[in-house]
Amino acid sequence: MKFTYTNPTQIHFGQGQISSITKNIPEDQKVLIIYGGGSIKKNGVYEQVISALANHTWLEFSGVEPNPTMETLDKAVKIAKNENVEYILAVGGGSVIDGSKYVAAAACYEGDGWDILLGKHSVKSAIPLGAILTLPATGSESNSGAVITRAETQDKLPFFSPAVHPKFAVLDPDAMKTLPEKQLVNGIVDAWVHTCEQYLTYPTNAMIQDGYAETLLKSLIKLANQFNDRDNDQWRENLMWSANQALNGLIGSGVPQDWATHMIGHELTALYGVDHGRSLAIIQPSLLRNQISVKREKLEQMGRNVFGLENSDELAEQTISAIEAFYHSLDVATQLTEHGSDKAQAIDSIIKQLEAHKMLKLGEHQAITLKESREILELAVA
Ligand code: NAP
Ligand code: FE
Repeated sequence: MKFTYTNPTQIHFGQGQISSITKNIPEDQKVLIIYGGGSIKKNGVYEQVISALANHTWLEFSGVEPNPTMETLDKAVKIAKNENVEYILAVGGGSVIDGSKYVAAAACYEGDGWDILLGKHSVKSAIPLGAILTLPATGSESNSGAVITRAETQDKLPFFSPAVHPKFAVLDPDAMKTLPEKQLVNGIVDAWVHTCEQYLTYPTNAMIQDGYAETLLKSLIKLANQFNDRDNDQWRENLMWSANQALNGLIGSGVPQDWATHMIGHELTALYGVDHGRSLAIIQPSLLRNQISVKREKLEQMGRNVFGLENSDELAEQTISAIEAFYHSLDVATQLTEHGSDKAQAIDSIIKQLEAHKMLKLGEHQAITLKESREILELAVA
């Protein structure tokens, strides 16, 4: 095992922590506050941010949509450039934080921002950014990734750069109180799949990463089981912290990873508007069934250590069924229906997009080619 690990985001965790950001952003720096469709104005988060920045000069940009688009974000890039913005404060869920990362990077680049997603421009510098998290799910508040959509062509692509890793993040569970049930469920599923994608590969000697991943998965099962009694601080705190830990780089350090569920899932969102978390629940069980021969040992380990299943010849199969049952217990579907009635055409469209996006060798062995993706979709599309 070999890795270099750093997570430079300073985390302010707990109730009332939004006021801590005053010290994080130098007073002489001009701040652009970026947020979404207005949920932060209904739960007191906006007021707390404004009062924390009472002595700063700030501007705001609102209207970042779920699955943030380049078309919207480029308007913020223009503001950041014209107004010489020196700090960006993202206030929202993964979409706002990802979108802010794009703005931070594109504002330091003279070319077309989409070059960043195409890998034509490798991001070396960005406006420094901080995040106030309102939806635990993506881990974006303390990682260096972002996923951006180009609406015109229905492309949804990720980029990564240490330059956009947030300098600080506030995780105040009170901000979650206004979250609709659907978004809480989406968050549990996203955090679950992030953990699986760094764990369900092949055995290594990484006891710490495996043990920590198993703790996260068991915690997410507990939180899902307590879903109907979720209106308490402990439930919110544990979900907020587990979603953060699931994708902050730690459990993925030095171990094989398989992001195929995310890469195929992105196409479902871009083509059919499926929520991010739900796109993952549609793909993952079918992908695991398709890849069972190479993932068998890790599935068996997960069956024993996470679900408490007994050893048997069918343990890997039973683990996949238990994962599927976990989604169903949250009322999350594991088949795509949003495409309408033409299954063959939907599969062709998804495959065409995967090909256009060069998603030709996915998985920990780079063995999920378009052929395997098609087999997975045959199982996953209703
Ligand atoms: P989201 O798209 O950021 O937010 C979904 C909805 O929840 C929005 O309508 C938002 O409304 C609302 N919302 C957020 N906080 C709320 C609150 N406290 N109360 C009430 N409503 C609230 O959801 P997300 O799941 O966090 O982010 C999904 C995006 O992240 C996808 O594009 C996905 O591809 C990406 N992603 C990124 C990473 C990464 O590592 N960077 C990993 C996985 C996924 P408002 O707009 O009004 O706030
Ligand atoms: Fe995700």
